Amino acid sequence: MRRKFVAGNWKMNKTISEARQLITELLLALKPLEDIDRAVCPPATALPIAARLLEGTGVGLGAQNMYWQENGAYTGELSPRMVAELCQYVIIGHSERRQYFGETDETVNLKVKAALTHGLTPIVCIGESLEENRAGKTAEVVSRQTREGLADLTPEEGARLVIAYEPVWAIGTGLAATAEDANAIHRDVVRPALTEMFGDEVAQGIRIQYGGSVTPENAAGFFSQSDIDGALVGGASLKAESFAAIARAAAGA
Ligand code: PEP
Repeated sequence: MRRKFVAGNWKMNKTISEARQLITELLLALKPLEDIDRAVCPPATALPIAARLLEGTGVGLGAQNMYWQENGAYTGELSPRMVAELCQYVIIGHSERRQYFGETDETVNLKVKAALTHGLTPIVCIGESLEENRAGKTAEVVSRQTREGLADLTPEEGARLVIAYEPVWAIGTGLAATAEDANAIHRDVVRPALTEMFGDEVAQGIRIQYGGSVTPENAAGFFSQSDIDGALVGGASLKAESFAAIARAAAGA
């Protein structure tokens, strides 16, 4: 049985005081949901206050990105050592990073390896664009991103991954994939690729979240599917009540 995992990607939203407010509200709402894993991923400036507020609560903390080098002349970047001082998770290869900041499967792979080396759990994002979807290339793209982004990992490292399948056309658009279509990608494309790389036992244990316009209204439909093991939530994670409602749906699935 894979334990459900719901994570909130706040993107470039919330000042430090706004983050303090949202986390304070969230802690009350998420407290009873101890049967699932829960995490928030605020912007970098809010990570220290978030780490302080979340300590000992069972709610995890993630960064939204990091560089793969340990330190040095990389202006503007955060190193895995810095992220690991505050966080348990790090989102790697979000489609907005791929789209606006030139991230590739190769840089995703370097970041995933660095995260694992430093004891972080990477939440590795994959997903096809609208054009790729319309051209019938979803399986090909998602399979390639999985294999290249996770290349050269050992099965022990594979067992520590979380994957987030996020079709780019569904992110922030209000047009979520259907639960059945998302599940088919998880079950028939992503997990078989993981099985080839890490073996069946490891692949069966890796959580595959769905992301893309998840809301309190549609969440339960996703979580009832065989291979949807949680959600990476953007817009709906910015309000305590909507994020908590999604987490409750996961806990009840
Ligand atoms: C995301 O940014 O990872 C995401 C899924 O966003 P949204 O829920 O707003 O579509």
